[in-house]
Amino acid sequence: MNTIKKDLIYTTSLTEIHSEPVIVIDSDYKVTDINSKFLNIIKKKREDIIGTYCYNYFKDSERVKKNCAKLFEIGFFHDEELELVGHNEKDLLYNGFVYKNEKTKNSELVIIGRKIALEKKYDTKFQSFLESLPDAIIIVNHDGNIQSVNTQVEKLFGYNRNEIIGNPIALLMPSRFKESHHNHIQNYFANPKVRKMGEGMQLFAKHKDQTEFPVEISLSTIDSEEGLIVCASIRDVSQQKKIEKELKEAITKAENAVKSKQQFLTNMSHEIRTPMNSIIGFTKVILRTELTPKQKEYISAIKMSGDTLIVLINDILDLAKVDAGKMVFKKAPFKLALSISTILHLFETKIQEKNIELVVKYDQNIPEVLIGDAIRLHQIILNLVSNAVKFTFKGKITFGVRKLTEDDENISLEFSVCDTGIGIEADKIDQIFENFQQAHSQTSRIFGGTGLGLAIVKQLVEGQGGSVHVESELGKGSTFSFVLPFKKTYRTSIVVDDDIIEFIDNPTKNIKVLIVEDVELNQLLMKTILDDFGFEYDIAENGKIAIENLKKDNYDVVLMDLQMPVMNGFDATNFIRNTLKSSVPIIALSADVTSINVEKCLAAGMNDYISKPIDDNALYRKILTLIKKPKQRIEIESIENYEPKTQKCTDMGYLNKITKSNPKLMTEMINVYLDQTPILINFIKKSWLENDFDTLKSAVHKLIPSFTIVGIDKKYEEIARKIGDESTMAECKNWILELENICLQAIEELKMELNNLNN
Ligand code: ADP
Repeated sequence: MNTIKKDLIYTTSLTEIHSEPVIVIDSDYKVTDINSKFLNIIKKKREDIIGTYCYNYFKDSERVKKNCAKLFEIGFFHDEELELVGHNEKDLLYNGFVYKNEKTKNSELVIIGRKIALEKKYDTKFQSFLESLPDAIIIVNHDGNIQSVNTQVEKLFGYNRNEIIGNPIALLMPSRFKESHHNHIQNYFANPKVRKMGEGMQLFAKHKDQTEFPVEISLSTIDSEEGLIVCASIRDVSQQKKIEKELKEAITKAENAVKSKQQFLTNMSHEIRTPMNSIIGFTKVILRTELTPKQKEYISAIKMSGDTLIVLINDILDLAKVDAGKMVFKKAPFKLALSISTILHLFETKIQEKNIELVVKYDQNIPEVLIGDAIRLHQIILNLVSNAVKFTFKGKITFGVRKLTEDDENISLEFSVCDTGIGIEADKIDQIFENFQQAHSQTSRIFGGTGLGLAIVKQLVEGQGGSVHVESELGKGSTFSFVLPFKKTYRTSIVVDDDIIEFIDNPTKNIKVLIVEDVELNQLLMKTILDDFGFEYDIAENGKIAIENLKKDNYDVVLMDLQMPVMNGFDATNFIRNTLKSSVPIIALSADVTSINVEKCLAAGMNDYISKPIDDNALYRKILTLIKKPKQRIEIESIENYEPKTQKCTDMGYLNKITKSNPKLMTEMINVYLDQTPILINFIKKSWLENDFDTLKSAVHKLIPSFTIVGIDKKYEEIARKIGDESTMAECKNWILELENICLQAIEELKMELNNLNN
């Protein structure tokens, strides 16, 4: 038991334990007890007060009487705004309750003051400025206690402002942040700048209902009469976070969809291109057999459709590129008139069947050879003419090409397909160029089609800097026209497939090839092609069998499919290079156009790659280039990409000078240049592909003197000197292409020079 010290001063009343004013009164409203806090305010002594009427000590005695009556009636009153005599601040609210005095057995009233923090009132301008702000604003004093808030705070946190004012800011924060927020505010006072709170971390605030929500808080200081105060601007970012989350989810979904599309396209690529490989390959083989003119015509039409189909498949497979507007157009020389007549030939039977007429109007001022993308042009014309044929039942289809503009380098042509068919309603015309749109709801059922044709036409034309137009009248017919720019060329003729003819005439013997391919049809096709080349061959169904073959036999070259069961082409190449230590040339064969690339094959140790459907001509060139047999042909692979410039790149000044303009000597020297340059260029390209810096350097150095001889600009000599010296292989690539381009242009110009000399 505790002992009580003798000199302890006893409190007179239990009311003393309360730090705020307390008064106890009886049913006559007379004071029976009072504490010192109350006495201090009214500046009276306890003995003078006991037994007197309580309402004398409040400013509004009538109100006190009313409240006391209410108290006896209902048992309590709550937060009444009463004011004590002698007390001027309005920071006390009074709560009263009835109490039963056990000693006197009477009911008494206890009235207790409750000190409340009063909202700090700033001048009205500042206060209305706070109210005008869209964010919740809290003014906090140095102790971290809230001094003032705007209405947005009440809305955001669900409290009435009286419930917040005077409380520590921690009231509005989840408990796990209290300490860090408090420290932050303290630090902030030490080093105040307008800044965001909790940079890089997610802050949360706490609602009255205890739920948490994400916020952004900006702090700034205000120099007030009472010193520095902090103004915290709080923004609820729940909505923003929700949108961010939804956006992230949508992006992930979209990325996954793109990935699956890519995967699907890669698989489809393989599945579709492999049989196409056989169809196109065998038509090429048939074309090289004895055929009647009619047969040749039909097979050529099949081959052309096959080529067009492959391009179309590539387009569809390349959807991602199309979506991103990254379609690449080839720039190669082609004969326009020949192209057009071959395409229109495809429609002859159909047109005869429908008993309609086809009229072709061709502007004779168009140069014979143009530079552009012939396959895409085929695709555009095919789509438009097949629509015209499809939707026309009587009358005629007029196909026209005319020159619109021309300068030294460029020419712009207008193609038109005019029919006397069913026509298109005016309000449907704008839609027909969109994906999967048809002008009539019945179109698909009656005429078939997907509504994709014109969308592709538009993309193909606009992608090349052209434009498409349509005019149509329902029941009368339609005219689809498009304008396309082309480059001009010096050439007056191009050689079509003469490479094949040449090697058929001079078959290269004694070359043994290992075909590594699992698909039987492809094996058969490869066999036929190699038979044609006059090469010997063995077939291995997968990488593992190929390795066995290579252990037993010598081969000049391996044609390696990439996707095979048991062991794929990459693993097999790895084994051949690293375990067998064989440097046999390996050419990758792949139908997978979306993911495969030269770098990947080269990285695996292969020497080159060729895509399926196999272009036998290119395969032949690649094989011969790799094995360097004596009958190696000169290959100028990118001659097709050669773009002429109006500016001549050669100058005969030097040759004239040293030969004293002797035509025989000049012819001889030009012929040497024409013979040697393509070989050197091929050497340069090949050594670059094989990462063989030494051969690359020496080939480039052999080329350098020729620049001066044929008068090519000095800058190319400088480019050539950089190759192999101060460069990476990647940089070299562009320089090599630049050299190749200028040499190809020089070759063309020198051929003309030779013609002039001979004449
Ligand atoms: P598809 O022909 O596969 O339906 P297209 O994109 O080529 O798709 O054509 C879209 C629609 O435009 C066609 O379905 C047809 O309604 C209309 N259309 C195209 N060309 C003609 C034409 N020459 N005459 C009448 N309607 C045409």
